[in-house]
Amino acid sequence: MELLETCAAALRKHRFETAVVKNTAEAFERLKAEAEALAPAAVSFGDSETMRATGILDFLRDDPRFELLDGFDPAMPRPERIEIRRRGLLADLFITGVNALTTQGTLHWLDMVGNRIAPVAFGPRRVVLVAGRNKIVADRRAAEARIRELAAPQNIARHPGFRTPCARTGVCMDCNAPDRICNTRMEMLRCYPEGRILVILIDEELGL
Ligand code: SF4
Repeated sequence: MELLETCAAALRKHRFETAVVKNTAEAFERLKAEAEALAPAAVSFGDSETMRATGILDFLRDDPRFELLDGFDPAMPRPERIEIRRRGLLADLFITGVNALTTQGTLHWLDMVGNRIAPVAFGPRRVVLVAGRNKIVADRRAAEARIRELAAPQNIARHPGFRTPCARTGVCMDCNAPDRICNTRMEMLRCYPEGRILVILIDEELGL
């Protein structure tokens, strides 16, 4: 918990709102309370194993009070999914994860399509990020290393059929493959406007 509290304090200094919780069940309650308080016309999300582990997607999908913009339904053709993700840019509430956070109070991502990071930077009125304790590192350099050496090669394993060097070896070669999943890097150094982004830190090992 101490590591999470240190990270949360640094994030708060940088004008992020934070919550520290013990497990995904508590994270779910916080996310649910957030959605109910906001009463958003539409909710969108960027894919995140940690977010899925909280169960919030099933809750939002099953509750008629919410319109969930699901741009990841495998039953839909890809162009339709991409269109839904575009609509997600204007959702009232956007939920996703983060690749790395630092105890200096910064957030770091590497994304393939960009639909996960663009709405974090701008668009939705409220953004909620969830992260397990394993995502917390010391500084920007360690965040970069975590993403390149761990998150990206492991993430590719979730996408069978992607032809990249890391898919074969598990090691990043900073490739130029058409299937490259590491196309856009984002780091968020401060929250603007103040408190727009809530970061929920979960005291469990979660996600990639
Ligand atoms: S840059 Fe290429 S090799 Fe490196 S993790 Fe990304 S997709 Fe894999």
